[in-house]
Amino acid sequence: MHIAVIGAGLSGLTCARQLQIQGHSVTVYEKSREVSGRMSTRQTEFGGFDYGAQYFTASSAAFRKQISAWKKAELIMDWNPHLVRLEQGTPDVHKPAGRSQKRFIAIPDMSSLCKYLAQGLDIRTEQVVRRIEPLGQQWLLSVGSNSVAIDASAGPFDAVLLAVPADQAVPLLTVAPALAKQAAKARLSPCWALLLSFPVPLELGYDGAWVSGSRLSWIIRDNAKPEHRDGERWVAHASVDWSIEHLEDDEERAKEKLLKAFHEATGSQVQPVHATAHRWRYAQALAPLAEDCLWRPKLHIGACGDWFAAGLEGSGRVENAYLSGLALAAAVGS
Ligand SMILES: Cc1cc2nc3c(=O)[nH]c(=O)nc-3n(C[C@H](O)[C@H](O)[C@H](O)COP(=O)(O)OP(=O)(O)OC[C@H]3O[C@@H](n4cnc5c(N)ncnc54)[C@H](O)[C@@H]3O)c2cc1C
Repeated sequence: MHIAVIGAGLSGLTCARQLQIQGHSVTVYEKSREVSGRMSTRQTEFGGFDYGAQYFTASSAAFRKQISAWKKAELIMDWNPHLVRLEQGTPDVHKPAGRSQKRFIAIPDMSSLCKYLAQGLDIRTEQVVRRIEPLGQQWLLSVGSNSVAIDASAGPFDAVLLAVPADQAVPLLTVAPALAKQAAKARLSPCWALLLSFPVPLELGYDGAWVSGSRLSWIIRDNAKPEHRDGERWVAHASVDWSIEHLEDDEERAKEKLLKAFHEATGSQVQPVHATAHRWRYAQALAPLAEDCLWRPKLHIGACGDWFAAGLEGSGRVENAYLSGLALAAAVGS
């Protein structure tokens, strides 16, 4: 089959690779300049920032097996940061973080895993899919790009697979209203991220912290990761509530407020030499669908992503994305 995959995050790339191994001809459309989606790393003159997923964990046998293979190929490694819990207003009294979990990071940075998975695939970057239209038993895509004023038509494809956040899948699924209805149940929450580079080490005594009683929920020292470049770089994520309330703030305003919260939470008054805020409009699924993925064999349309539970207890994680992408490829091939 000639298959279009929309989205080159971990779920789309996992699915596309499996389908290509099965002998299908696959084209991946990605609206950004680079692959990786929410596992992206932003490069700056101060070093790279993993500003979406910081690390991942594995609870299923399938993902653990994949992790062993990635480790052998030196694509990822274990990461053992010193993590604490911070109470707002008492930055010097930090409690050790609860249960210990094995954590993994991609090396040399988070985006490198997806960049590796993208090798050998036909990926069209900076191509946003705006519409899916039927053509007999097949599908055409209406694709926009910054360089061309008029949307181009791509296809025909025998199958179309959406590997984008649920909220972005819904408007594309007007051709399959039952799937659109299901996707609409799995909305994702936003997250404001703050990227900071400091002229000197902050010497906080920990590498990362879950923060309570603050606009922030999580802070992490990016350069605590092995193989990351020198320099003192921190990433802070705002809480879900704050991110929802301030979703439409401009970046400058969000940056100022979050920087203030960072100083309050850590007790450090060192001023950054570089600060940027990034709005993840669709960050993490809070209410996943119970399935592994969606696939309609009659229509040849499907969806995968981290908004599927895929047999796991929680959602919105790298492991969900991987398992869901794998499951969709298996469903298409069956
Ligand atoms: C702030 C933050 C922190 C996180 N922390 C963690 C963590 O610590 N541990 C963990 O396991 N997970 C974490 N996650 C979640 C993890 O990043 C995701 O679960 C995973 O990366 C999702 O992969 P995906 O392929 O399903 O979706 P995505 O990575 O979102 O990929 C979807 C892709 O589709 C593209 N796209 C969307 N619409 C279109 C269109 N119309 N046309 C073409 N392309 C399109 C997007 O540009 C994107 O590249 C975090 C996420 C965020 C945002």
